[in-house]
Amino acid sequence: MTVAPHFDFKNGILHAENVPLPTLAEKFGTPLYVYSRQALRDAWEAYRVAAQGRDVLVCFGMKANSNLAVLNEFKNLGSGFDIVSGGELARVLAVGGDPGKVVFSGVGKQAWEMQAALKAGVKCFNVESEAELEQLNLVAERMGVIAPVSLRVNPDVDAQTHPYISTGLKENKFGIAIEEAPRIYQQAAQFKNLNIVGVDCHIGSQITEVAPYLDALDKLMLLIETLAGLGIQLKHLDLGGGIGIRYTDETLLTPTTLLDHVFKRLEARKLDYLQIVLEPGRSLVGNAGILLTKVEYLKHAEAKNFAIVDAAMNDLIRPTLYDAWHSVEQVCPAGHAEVRDYDIVGPICESGDWLARERQFALTQGELLAIMSAGAYAFTMSSQYNTRPRAAEIMVDADRYQVVRPRESLESLFASETTMP
Ligand SMILES: *Cc1c(COP(=O)(O)O)cnc(C)c1O
Repeated sequence: MTVAPHFDFKNGILHAENVPLPTLAEKFGTPLYVYSRQALRDAWEAYRVAAQGRDVLVCFGMKANSNLAVLNEFKNLGSGFDIVSGGELARVLAVGGDPGKVVFSGVGKQAWEMQAALKAGVKCFNVESEAELEQLNLVAERMGVIAPVSLRVNPDVDAQTHPYISTGLKENKFGIAIEEAPRIYQQAAQFKNLNIVGVDCHIGSQITEVAPYLDALDKLMLLIETLAGLGIQLKHLDLGGGIGIRYTDETLLTPTTLLDHVFKRLEARKLDYLQIVLEPGRSLVGNAGILLTKVEYLKHAEAKNFAIVDAAMNDLIRPTLYDAWHSVEQVCPAGHAEVRDYDIVGPICESGDWLARERQFALTQGELLAIMSAGAYAFTMSSQYNTRPRAAEIMVDADRYQVVRPRESLESLFASETTMP
């Protein structure tokens, strides 16, 4: 059993659904991102079941994976989208996503991005500062429209996750301190071209406990009651994303557990008239993808053993950026080689270019490895560092597969560059 249900061994060979991974490596080369369509559907189903009979809007936090094939799948399943840029909005529109189900997050929205989102007719702007409120009002006024707004508040709860992916603490750049929120809501109410519709928070990522969400919820409910007392009525409460996935042996928080707890508390306070918005990213896509790579060289040095593979930090930066742990599987683990402790590293000229450390394997040169749980914050964070073309992306559906983004060509990497006369 691997960490991802739709990537499993059949006859000793790792498959994506019914497709043997060596077939894909042979056909499309490596490094290669491979996604499972069924895994996307299953992840969505967990949210659909949890939301059943309740007023819940799930907006896929698309910065986790914004390939059009992934967006299209979620759009067809009824998903909204949580966007963080004008570029992401363009992707949503490109697949025919409903702007009425789009929430626009982010601390640094530029005027052109606000304009594009107002023109498209997004559900809501999740505003993160007073300065942004002013700018949004101005942009809306110039266009002669009203901008729907929610304030992203910072509930100052500790999601007990990695500091780089924890966002709900006071010292963080995100959101408005919850004590300041009533004053800023009142200010927002004065702006002629803003319409206050909600409140939101996003306390962090890879969260595996319900407690931080409920701490945040309690603080938000108190705020909503305070605002009601000031004559400001909200329509929705957005709890952000952050539900974790299994990278190794984590016990998971399920959408059902989260929403059961949330609605129980809302009902107890008679706040269940509010629509609940969620912005899951990682939990919808993380285990729907792997990064397939080939072992180029084995290097048995005195202090360490290295498996040098053809994927690198430009393809998957999470290990070096967050010290993230990705499970690694041998695609055809038949090897008669000696078992050793390996660091799995890429060819990039940086010591930080590693994908996994100190893993026991019996490796042979030329064999294939699968870096698991690479559906989220993987391809979307990739770059062309060292003039390496970005990997191709393949979507598997049962025994069919399709290139949903071809490997970049070398020429395309510098085709638009010019030299000075
Ligand atoms: C990144 C992000 C998300 C998605 O977070 P996950 O941990 O991937 O679920 C949701 N909302 C906001 C505002 C974000 O920045």
